[in-house]
Amino acid sequence: MYDAEPLSALPDGCLAVISDIRTDDNEKKRLAELGIIIDSKLKVVMHGSGGSPIAFEIHGVTLALRKEDCDKIFVQRLTHKRTVLLVGNPNVGKSTIFNAMTGLHQHTGNWCGKTVSGAEGCIHIQGEQIRCIDTPGTYAIDASSAEEAITARVLREIPHDLVICVCDATCPVRGIALALELQAAGEHVILCMNLMDEAAKKEIKTDLNKISMHLHMPVFGVAAKKKSTLRPLLDAVVNDQSEASEPYTLDHVAAIQKASEICADTIKYSTRCKNHDRQIDKFVAGKFWKYPIMICLLLLIFWVTMVGANYPSALLSDFFAAICTALRNLAGMLHCPQWLSGAIIDGILRGTGWVVSVMLPPMAIFFPMFTLLEDVGLLPRIAFNLDHCCAKCRACGKQALTMTMGFGCNAVGVTECRIIQSKRERLIAILTNSLVPCNGRFPALLAILSIFFAGDDMLSSLRSAGIMTLLILLCVAVTFAASMFLSRTFLRGQPSSFILELPPYRKPQIGHVILRSVLDRTIFVLGRAVMTAAPVSLLIWMLANICICGQSLLQWLAGFMEPPGALIGLDGVMLLAFLLGLPANEIVLPVALTAYLGCSTLTDYDSLDSLHSLLTSHGWTMRTAVCFLIFTLFHSPCATTLLTVYKETRSKRWTFAAFLLPTVIGITLCMIIVGITHLL
Ligand code: GDP
Repeated sequence: MYDAEPLSALPDGCLAVISDIRTDDNEKKRLAELGIIIDSKLKVVMHGSGGSPIAFEIHGVTLALRKEDCDKIFVQRLTHKRTVLLVGNPNVGKSTIFNAMTGLHQHTGNWCGKTVSGAEGCIHIQGEQIRCIDTPGTYAIDASSAEEAITARVLREIPHDLVICVCDATCPVRGIALALELQAAGEHVILCMNLMDEAAKKEIKTDLNKISMHLHMPVFGVAAKKKSTLRPLLDAVVNDQSEASEPYTLDHVAAIQKASEICADTIKYSTRCKNHDRQIDKFVAGKFWKYPIMICLLLLIFWVTMVGANYPSALLSDFFAAICTALRNLAGMLHCPQWLSGAIIDGILRGTGWVVSVMLPPMAIFFPMFTLLEDVGLLPRIAFNLDHCCAKCRACGKQALTMTMGFGCNAVGVTECRIIQSKRERLIAILTNSLVPCNGRFPALLAILSIFFAGDDMLSSLRSAGIMTLLILLCVAVTFAASMFLSRTFLRGQPSSFILELPPYRKPQIGHVILRSVLDRTIFVLGRAVMTAAPVSLLIWMLANICICGQSLLQWLAGFMEPPGALIGLDGVMLLAFLLGLPANEIVLPVALTAYLGCSTLTDYDSLDSLHSLLTSHGWTMRTAVCFLIFTLFHSPCATTLLTVYKETRSKRWTFAAFLLPTVIGITLCMIIVGITHLL
């Protein structure tokens, strides 16, 4: 609580409780007749011109007193933050509403099961702060899956004042049923019908007032993508003084039943409006077209990334080279000790420069394109198309969704496995998740492919995009093979049922997607790479410059790693880089490059071409490149992913299995490649 202060000092919208009334008894009696007594709560509504009179709400009525009278009423501001929960079915726009209300940037995407953990933020409105919690999507308040259990726990354990039940205005029955269930459980509920813009496009006419009368709760229609439409809902949240209704008995089936009756009475659907989604699905998920379309999409994404990344990559390299040269000159002019300028410029700056110029351009192109697919609603279609393969491997069809999340980040993919109900199938999905490459591995894959397989002409860039697509298909095939192996050996059992919601195709928010994927994904991955690469670059520079018996420590270590490296078609430096890259996959290539530079006479780099000469001068051949690509795809997950596997399974044994599985696959495949090339 704040210290006592006169009521006249409070701003509009402020909540307070009366702590003292400093006036004579007659005056106190008059005020008491109006309900102005100690311990009463009030809320300042507005100030007249010049600050007087002051209107405030007390006991449900609005009174106005002159400033002189308000000076005698002492109050304490209420610091108690009200808490609002956002609850609703999956994919109805809860995270979009949460972001619009709190200004935060929760991940949004057009598919069910995207939010598997809660998020918390603060709504600042009319001088008040309201705590807002976004929950994973749920169909009922008694949980049947791991992410629904989180919502049930939040409802049960986090004290809250209000629940905003978000529902999809284009198909509101399940949302209204959930609102009824929440109300029956004694929650204080406001119903928020989101996606009103889509409902309008489909010519769906909704009588919000009538729904409100049926439900005995406030109902608001919003289109969360347009922030301004949320204003009435926000005002209702901040001004809400009402109490929760008494709990009553209502089971889930009755709630659906009742919701259907309410919808039949209040919502009119147009018969003229055509559903174009089914026509698109005929291609995207059709028997004949589904695989060619998925492969062409992958090819297009990789081709655009490779063609687009070369030029900015060269520009960035030039930029860093110019900075290094300028700093070297400056260090010379200032007579800076050789070891200091060497450590900072040739160690940290050069290593970090490599990371940025090689990784930033492909990521800045690849991530927005991938996020656009997610926003359009293609991910569930991919899960739909791959379900047949999953069933053959006795795995869950939703594993395709967790796999696609793995392309973003394996740690996120592993957490996402919570959407799979069966424990056996969840474990299979967790153990195989890092068999698809994450954000952190793509830049190295794209860079090596561009260097060794792409050229300036259209045909060779298409060829390298084709190879990348084949590599991804290989990852998918290996994931299915590993799932089948696990489901026939250590994790035997029958596949559980598969229920997947296919959301409508939605026009992506292109500007938002580009901004968020650059800020959230690209900068995040790059930041992690730079933060780890800078100290590792310094370490590598030191190892390269501390000599024992005429050989640098780096050469000693690399020499030590040479024989096991040779077995899998790599050299000692690369193997060392993979080991040092355990904290973050992003740094494997930068570490190797820094190590090569440390042993190299090449002092400057100006483009991917110079990277090619650097690698070939260290004995790289086409075979090394292929083995590098394969080992980048299949090796130990990063430390964060291993930690997440441990958190999700609570088992050291399964965490070790998650480490072993991709590593063994990688080593075996590389050894096969080395064997074949020897034979040839
Ligand atoms: P959640 O799973 O309930 O958190 O849903 P999201 O907030 O991730 O939204 C699901 C999808 O609906 C995303 O593609 C959003 O961009 C989209 N979306 C959310 N609100 C609206 C809206 O008011 N209008 C339209 N057209 N799309 C929306």
